[in-house]
This record gives sequence, C-alpha cells and structure tokens, in this order.
Amino acid sequence: MTNPTPDVVVIGGGPSGSTAASFLAKAGRSVVLFEKEAHPRFHIGESLLPRNLDILERLGVLDTVRGIGVHKPGAEFVSDRTGRSCAFPFRHALNQARTHAWQVRRSEFDEALFRNAARLGAETHEETRVAEIRFPAEGFARRGERPEVVAKTKDGGEITLRPRFVLDASGRDTFLANKVTTKNSNKYNNTAAMYAHWRGVERREGELDGYISIHLAEDGWFWLIPLPGDVMSIGFVGNQSAWKHRKGSARDTFLDRVASSPSVSARVRGAEIVGEIYSTANYSYRAASGTGEGYLMIGDAFGFVDPMFSTGVLMAMTAGELGAKAADGWLDDPVRGEAMCRATNLELARAMDRIGWLIYRINDPVMRSLFMAPKNTLWMRDGIINMLAGNLAGGRFGDPRAILPILSFKAVYHVLSWMHRRGWGPDMPESRPGPMAVPAPAE
Ligand SMILES: Cc1cc2nc3c(=O)[nH]c(=O)nc-3n(C[C@H](O)[C@H](O)[C@H](O)COP(=O)(O)OP(=O)(O)OC[C@H]3O[C@@H](n4cnc5c(N)ncnc54)[C@H](O)[C@@H]3O)c2cc1C
Repeated sequence: MTNPTPDVVVIGGGPSGSTAASFLAKAGRSVVLFEKEAHPRFHIGESLLPRNLDILERLGVLDTVRGIGVHKPGAEFVSDRTGRSCAFPFRHALNQARTHAWQVRRSEFDEALFRNAARLGAETHEETRVAEIRFPAEGFARRGERPEVVAKTKDGGEITLRPRFVLDASGRDTFLANKVTTKNSNKYNNTAAMYAHWRGVERREGELDGYISIHLAEDGWFWLIPLPGDVMSIGFVGNQSAWKHRKGSARDTFLDRVASSPSVSARVRGAEIVGEIYSTANYSYRAASGTGEGYLMIGDAFGFVDPMFSTGVLMAMTAGELGAKAADGWLDDPVRGEAMCRATNLELARAMDRIGWLIYRINDPVMRSLFMAPKNTLWMRDGIINMLAGNLAGGRFGDPRAILPILSFKAVYHVLSWMHRRGWGPDMPESRPGPMAVPAPAE
C-alpha cells in the first residue's frame, strides 16, 4: 500500500535518484522512488571514477559493484592527429584515497542501486512514470500545504501522492526543468553521440589493462570502455560537422565514423557489434534555476556536461547525496533547507565548470599538445589526473591540493596560446596534420 503523504517523492531511479532515496531512507524519512522503466534496462555512462567509490561505500554497495565491474586504474588518451598515446594513471592523483574505479554495465549497476534503495527502506515503483506535478501557491510550506504528484503505471493506473518535498532525478528527460524554468544549452558543445557494444575488440594489456581509451579524432572523440566478458563499449561523440555527411542506416553511419579514425579502426579489426546501436543528442545544458519552494533538481535533471572525462555518474551520485541532505534539512526547516538546495546546485555547477574548462578546449591545438604530453612541473600533470579521478568538488576553488597545479596549467595554456597566435614559442605537435590525419570530408 503506497504511502499517500510521504516526506519526499523522487522522480527517476537512475544513479542520482536511487542514491538520494537511499540516503533519505537511511535518515529515517519516508520516501517514494518512481522509475518509468523496469530494471535492468540499458543506459549509457559505463565508466566510473575513483571518487565514486566513497559514495558506493556509504551506500553499502561497494562489494556488489566490485563484483560486476572491470577494474579501471586510469584513462588513456590517443590522438589521431599525431598517433601519440598518453596514459593518466589514477595512482598519480594528488588525492591518493582512491586510485582505481570500475567500468560497469549500467543495466546491472543501476539495478543494484535501485534495489539497494528498497533494501534501505525506500518505497520503489518501476514502470511508473511521473506525469504531473502541481505546486500550490507560493508560501505553501508555511501554510502546511503540499505539492501533488501524479504517476501513471504501465497498466494505465494512477497514483496520486502529496509529499512535502520533490527531488527531480529524471535525467536528460529534465522533467521539472521543462516545466518550471529554462534550460541553458552550451553553445560550445552542440554534439551528438552514437554507441554500441562490440565483441572481439583489441583490449589494452599490461600497464593499460582496464583503462578507458579516449581517441581524439578530427571532429570529435571516441570512447572504448572494456566491460566484463569480451565486450567493449564504443561510442563516438561528434560535433555538427561530423554528422553532416551521414547517409544510409544508423549502422552505416556508425561504421563510417569508426572507419574514419585510424586508431579506432585498428582496434576493431575482426570485431563485431553485438546488440543495438544507440544515439543521443549530447549537447550540454544546465537548468537556469535548479531549485524552488519544495523541490530540487539533481543529476542530469539539473545539468549535463560532455562525458569525455566520465564525470556524469559521479556528479549524479554526488548530487543525490547532497540533495538528500538538503531535502532532509528542508523537512526540518524550509529556510535552512532552501539555502542547502541552492548550495547543492552551486557545488555541482562549479564542478561542471571546472571540468568543462578543460573539455571545451580539447580541440584547441595548444590544449591538445599540452594535454597529450603533460609535464609535472608544479604538479600540473598530477593536478590534471586529480581532476580526471573525479576530485571536482570543494567549494569555490575546488580540491585545495589542486589549486596551484591547475592555476599553473591554466597560466601555461594561456601564455602558450597567446604566443602560438603570434607564431612564437615552441612547436605544437597537435597543430599540424600528422601522419595519421584524417582527410576532411569532401564538400
Ligand atoms: C553518450 C554519453 C556517454 C556517457 N558516458 C559516461 C561515462 O562513461 N561515465 C559517466 O559517469 N557518465 C557518462 N555519461 C553521463 C551519464 O550517463 C549520466 O550523467 C548519468 O546517467 C546521470 O544519472 P541520473 O541518475 O542523473 O540520470 P539517468 O541515469 O538518466 O536516470 C534517470 C532515470 O529517470 C527515469 N525517468 C525519467 N523521467 C521519468 C519520469 N517522468 N518518471 C519516472 N522516471 C523517470 C529514467 O528512466 C532513468 O532511469 C554519458 C552520457 C552520454 C549521453
């Protein structure tokens, strides 16, 4: 029997929503978690980061995830332009608390988190889509009024609840943002992605065993994520020009993209696609305002940043944990809770900006040249690895250990860019077409 007046309703049973529901249930709050699909279901976002492990441990699912994951000790970047490869082992991160992560099938990972929320006391519903939400007039919390949430079950039934607080974790559906605010798209990241699971792809060995490989192509980038068994997740994220000449089926387009990258096509020789080919419009966005009276948006429902550095699940779960604390605080004292909600959004927005600074410059030849041959002067390389390991949170300036290294890296980048524009300074290998350069598509 569903509790008609829970403390909190959570919309969406992905990593963010399940994390939030788990922590609220642990705090003794009554919480109802709605998921529109049935677990296990496919989802993209399979590469986790070391900082994820702390949250998994607090949730009590660390061993479960270890059991379904491929050990990931770092990230490797490969440049199609120069043929160079650069490894970023997490053991060099400035924060040494966690030096590995895992790569997981999201169907298994998300199901484990969702079932764990139920185990901890959350009331969970699958195949139940939140269809409507109505907030009373402003100041409703003071008057003791509640929002109304209407969810539809797969057999056409309706569940109407009156929670005190709503957490929106609906992912890229951005359920609340579509209704109560605007979404600001990032004009530097108007990209789309295609991806599929493959079998028989060449895996990295030795030191690089388990690494995610990011292949930087001419008009986008690929991920190669080793999953359990002989499965490799391969995806391509490309800007508008990458898709301009697409023709034929989705399969043709995807295979075409793979063939256009010398470094990726070398690894898929003799391999085959298993299962479906998926695509997603991948542009980054952020809700103009992620919180208001009685609600907070968390995870992708609040904002999304390009997935090049595998930050999405970590950010979603961080938002889930912080969001649960903010909702818990709001239930005790709405004024304090509102401040906590704003602080949660701000923390996440800053983390996105921090990683975004690097991602949205990655096609710049100076940035690529620096990134693909990082020097460890003033711990700059280790500072970058620290970010790649997910150490992104930490108030206004981020992880205190990384402030000097990252500021130094930014300063070097800006000085070299200034010199490069004037034709001065050292040679930038990523600024000239190299032996592996892909010819631009014919107009
Ligand atoms: C191409 C691509 C590659 C990526 N690669 C990575 C990666 O390697 N590593 C990484 O960490 N991240 C990656 N990400 C990002 C990652 O997928 C997301 O950041 C992460 O899944 C966000 O979690 P979430 O819980 O906020 O949303 P989701 O995981 O999307 O979960 C939202 C859930 O809400 C449900 N839902 C939606 N609307 C409703 C509704 N009205 N009622 C009920 N339920 C609803 C959905 O069914 C879904 O299960 C990638 C993203 C893309 C697009």
